[in-house]
Amino acid sequence: MTEKYEVIVVGGGTAGLSAALVLGRARRRTLVVEAGEPRNAPAAHMHGYLSRDGMPPAEFLAAGRAEIARYGVELVHDRAVDVTKGEDFAVRLAGGTPSGGGRTVHARQLVVATGLKDELPPVAGLAERFGRDVLHCPYCHGWEVRDRAFGVLATTPMGVHQALIVTQWSKDVTLFLHTVAEEELTDEDRRRLGAAGVVVVPGEVAGLVVEDDRLTGVRLAGGTSSGGGRAYDREVLFVAPRAVPQTDLLTRLGAEMSETPFGTYPVVDGRGLTTVPGLWAAGNASGFAEQVVNAASRGYRAGAAINGELLMADLDMAVAGVRG
Ligand SMILES: Cc1cc2nc3c(=O)[nH]c(=O)nc-3n(C[C@H](O)[C@H](O)[C@H](O)COP(=O)(O)OP(=O)(O)OC[C@H]3O[C@@H](n4cnc5c(N)ncnc54)[C@H](O)[C@@H]3O)c2cc1C
Repeated sequence: MTEKYEVIVVGGGTAGLSAALVLGRARRRTLVVEAGEPRNAPAAHMHGYLSRDGMPPAEFLAAGRAEIARYGVELVHDRAVDVTKGEDFAVRLAGGTPSGGGRTVHARQLVVATGLKDELPPVAGLAERFGRDVLHCPYCHGWEVRDRAFGVLATTPMGVHQALIVTQWSKDVTLFLHTVAEEELTDEDRRRLGAAGVVVVPGEVAGLVVEDDRLTGVRLAGGTSSGGGRAYDREVLFVAPRAVPQTDLLTRLGAEMSETPFGTYPVVDGRGLTTVPGLWAAGNASGFAEQVVNAASRGYRAGAAINGELLMADLDMAVAGVRG
């Protein structure tokens, strides 16, 4: 039996749920396919979303799922593993859940809201503490750790920028150059770091010092002669994970992609339409800088635009039918 929807949304994070809410309220038969790995799951609280500041991310998404259910939007806990486009989009699901079952679902329009993955630098202990005292975004968590002893782990010269930005939240900032050579810093970098009072420590970082389930230090690699092996007291470490956008479904459908310093993302118009007709992208699958509030906004825009597209396509068909 063909399961046919007007719209399928792959990804039930903020962007996908937001698109689904608009579509449900616009009375569009919509399916959300959600694999259950939202990006901010490691964090206990979500910040910077007006009216929901401090809410646990899981609670926020549960509220979103309850809201879309009110308008008859279906949600299946499954993973979309393949997609093709013929007369419509055919999305193959992995199965593995009683309701999922490896089936293929069809829709006239497809929203890819699959987010991105954060690939942490390969330093022992980072992953376990990510979202707690190993952080990537001061706008998300800076206030909560203000005035503590910060470290910043540089993996590219962009680490300088991150170190400068976080001085807005603490004046006690140490930049660990790690894989960045001292010569890679420009004179401007050095002047700004000096003016901001950032301590610069060259040398590779070997790992974290953790006591009583709290970060207490950052340890350098190597022997002791040049300061190697030394541990620096730090309570918070900022890192810059490599962004790995989850854009596999988009590339399978031939969407044009564009490289950025923060990963390769689809080319979209202001509404989120890719270069493939009927194929939309929203949230972190469409861009790096989509915080939760932006992801919600992107989803909303795409949802509203899709409703308009469907309506006009049906009207045009009706007109063609009358003429025919
Ligand atoms: C540790 C951490 C803390 C953060 N804190 C904040 C904060 O405080 N405030 C803030 O504004 N932002 C924060 N962010 C950023 C925030 O996570 C993103 O802005 C937000 O998750 C983007 O929403 P999204 O819907 O695009 O992606 P996601 O929330 O990642 O949702 C994408 C969903 O798609 C699903 N998916 C992926 N592939 C498939 C597939 N093939 N089939 C089915 N489903 C699939 C995933 O399982 C996931 O649930 C934080 C990020 C991190 C890493």
